[in-house]
Amino acid sequence: MEALVEPVTAWYGHAARDLPWRRPDCTPWGVLVSEVMLQQTPVVRVEPVWREWTARWPRPADLAAAPTSDVLRAWGRLGYPRRALRLADCARALVERHDGQVPADEEHLRALPGVGEYTAAAVRAFAFGRRSVVVDTNVRRVQARAVTGVALPAPSYTAAERALAVSLTPSGDADAARWAAASMELGALVCTARVPRCGVCPVRDRCAWRAAGFPPDEHAARRRTQAWHGTDRQVRGRVMAALRSADGPVPRALLADAGPEAQLDRCLAGLIEDGLAETDEAGRYLLPA
Ligand code: SF4
Repeated sequence: MEALVEPVTAWYGHAARDLPWRRPDCTPWGVLVSEVMLQQTPVVRVEPVWREWTARWPRPADLAAAPTSDVLRAWGRLGYPRRALRLADCARALVERHDGQVPADEEHLRALPGVGEYTAAAVRAFAFGRRSVVVDTNVRRVQARAVTGVALPAPSYTAAERALAVSLTPSGDADAARWAAASMELGALVCTARVPRCGVCPVRDRCAWRAAGFPPDEHAARRRTQAWHGTDRQVRGRVMAALRSADGPVPRALLADAGPEAQLDRCLAGLIEDGLAETDEAGRYLLPA
C-alpha cells in the first residue's frame, strides 16, 4: 500500500491548492466550518462564503449568538441550507459542552449536531493532525480505480471499501493526515469522475483500472443522475433566495414564480418544517429570527 501513499503525498507537496482552511493559522473551528460547507458544494463556491463566515463568526460562540436569519443569509447560495442550521446548533453545543472549543477526540466530535463519521475524521486529520480514516467521494474513486481496478465505487459505501481505506492509511499521525489530504486532492484534481487526467497522475504506473484497460462502470444502471430542473430542491432554492434578499416578510403571491402552485405549497410547508422559514400573523413568509 505504501506504493500508493508515497507518490500521492509527494505529488500533493507541489500540486495542492492553497486553500485558506489548509493554512497553519486556520483554527479547528475554521476547519470544521469548511468541512460542513464542502460536503455538498464545490471549493470554488465555498471559499468566498467561508471567508465571510469565519471573519464574521471567528469562534463558535460568535455563531452561537447569531440570529438564524443572519446565518441563513450568510449561507447564501451554497445549497442544502439545513447545514447552516446544523452548524449553528453545533456552535451552541460547542459552547455548552466544550467551553467554545472544538474537541479533538472522535467520540465528542461525533456527538455534535451535523457531524458524522466523515466530518469527525476530517476534523481530526486536518485540524489536529491526528491519524483518522478520511473517506469522501474523491477518495472512494481513487481507491476504486487505483487499487480495486474498477471505474467507480459501488453506489453505497461498503465494508470492503472501509477496510481498504483503513489498510491504506499510514500508521503515524502526520503521515496519515497528509495522506488524507493528498488522496482527496488527487480525486478532486486528477482522478476526476468523468475524465481522469491519467497522463499527469502520480500513480499511473501502478493504477489497477488503467492496467486493466479502463473497464466500464459495472454499476452504471443503478446510479441516479440528480436531476435539478423542476425538482423540489430547485423550488425551495428559489424561495430561499427570495426570502434572503427581501427586506421584510414576503407575501405568498410574490413567491408564485418559484414553481407550480401545488409544488410551491409543498415546498413552503417543508421549509417551515425544516426551520428554514416562518410565517407572520398575516401569512407572509420570512426567514426565522
Ligand atoms: S491513472 Fe488515471 S484512473 Fe488511475 S488513479 Fe490515476 S487518474 Fe485515476
